[in-house]
Amino acid sequence: MTNGFIIKCIDSVVQTILNSEEEIEFLDRAIGDGDHYINIKRGSIAVQSIKSELTTLPPDQAFKKIGMTLMTSVGGASGPLFASFFLALAKETSGETNLQQFSKGFTSGVESIMDRGKSKLGDKTMLDVLIPVSEKLQSLADEGCEKHQLIKEIDSVAIAGVVATKDMMPSKGRSAGLAERAIGHIDPGAKTCQLIISTVCKELK
Ligand code: ADP
Ligand code: MG
Repeated sequence: MTNGFIIKCIDSVVQTILNSEEEIEFLDRAIGDGDHYINIKRGSIAVQSIKSELTTLPPDQAFKKIGMTLMTSVGGASGPLFASFFLALAKETSGETNLQQFSKGFTSGVESIMDRGKSKLGDKTMLDVLIPVSEKLQSLADEGCEKHQLIKEIDSVAIAGVVATKDMMPSKGRSAGLAERAIGHIDPGAKTCQLIISTVCKELK
């Protein structure tokens, strides 16, 4: 992985988020407090604004810088959760990040979200996308699969994860207060994670 690739992903993710305003706003208004779009827009633009600095850093240090930027720029529950993901990812990667290392780092990032959020699979959160993606990524990296297969499988696991949140009963975050009234609605944080993962998959092509 090169920092050139990371920068390309940052620009594409910002574009995806800007293009998804209506969809994300709609989801967080239904079962949250309607600020999720603003939070992730602020975070992704803050990361985009330090691009020139990121260009000079190896991947692990770039991930750390991204984490620190998210920590200080994004409010809500999701800001510190996304930040802790990148800080944990940074610890497991290096200047020469390969797929094995990245998948280990991704898993560690997801575990850090679980720790900080006291949350797990099935709570109707972003983890319902991130946990299955981390497991699939790990197994594909262990198998040494082809790039096109990796892209296809990761993208579909992320989509399946976001769809699965629809019928879940929430037990973490703001939607938990709605209990069964949240059933039938997709979790906004899960949707954002799927959009980001699908965008990175597209960039990998
Ligand atoms: P807030 O909930 O503070 O308004 P956001 O709207 O930015 O923050 O983010 C909401 C998203 O954060 C939810 O849709 C969910 O995916 C995620 N989330 C909230 N609490 C947790 C938690 N404890 N663990 C994992 N994810 C969480
Ligand atoms: Mg919110």
